Amino acid sequence: ETPFEVGLATEGLSKAFGGVQAVDGASVQFHHGKVNALIGPNGSGKTTFFNCVTGMIRADAGTVSYRGRSITGKAPHRIARAGIGRSFQLCRVFPRMTVLENMLTAVRPGSLPRLLASAHHRDDVERARELLARVGIEHLERAEARDISYGQQKLLELAGVLMADPETIMLDEPAGGVNPALIERIAELVRSLNAEGRTFIVVEHNMELVMSLSDHVVVFDRGRPICEGPPSVVQNDPRVLEAYLGI
Ligand code: ADP
Repeated sequence: ETPFEVGLATEGLSKAFGGVQAVDGASVQFHHGKVNALIGPNGSGKTTFFNCVTGMIRADAGTVSYRGRSITGKAPHRIARAGIGRSFQLCRVFPRMTVLENMLTAVRPGSLPRLLASAHHRDDVERARELLARVGIEHLERAEARDISYGQQKLLELAGVLMADPETIMLDEPAGGVNPALIERIAELVRSLNAEGRTFIVVEHNMELVMSLSDHVVVFDRGRPICEGPPSVVQNDPRVLEAYLGI
């Protein structure tokens, strides 16, 4: 494989829940500046891996680094400050807040919602509106989040992640439960944000999307990578078929 700049990387990362070894000594290097995909059968440890890397849960063992600097054991807000943003598999928005209010709670990741619009800097509001326009839902800014479609909530969540201006964006199943038109919009957004220099690490089950979007694919099975490379190579690897078909 051609040389690449190492972005997010782990060494021997492990996490067990009771007797279940969800992540099992995973050593992975994601390519900085690229669209990386993390795929694998259900239960192979992808979400747990994301949660360990972003500080949501503490790993039992192993190290995590970002562009050569250790972020092992750091709290989520410290990891966010290092330049890593993330979305969640089950979209996280505040259902009874408006779309714009949701954006303003995202300004400082991890902070409690600040409900008074007057307490916000005008810059934040301006930036929120720009980003809502960028994902194509600026016309919904006054709607409550619970009243917009699930796909639109996913776009809102992505716009919220962008409020912190992250260099690397981790997306957990961005296309899950989203209709084809909005999947295409999400794909276009990932492409254009990547063209502007943002790195992506995407967990996704939609293989067509993974293969059309990614530069580099890492395949997980039983808590660790079993194969990695460009989509064309990974697609034809017998270990990948075996993992998915269980033969
Ligand atoms: P994936 O995202 O690839 O579907 P997960 O990371 O969600 O995989 O799960 C990996 C394994 O860890 C599964 O066997 C799952 O049941 C288990 N697991 C995940 N989270 C928990 C938890 N909070 N408590 C107990 N077991 C868990």
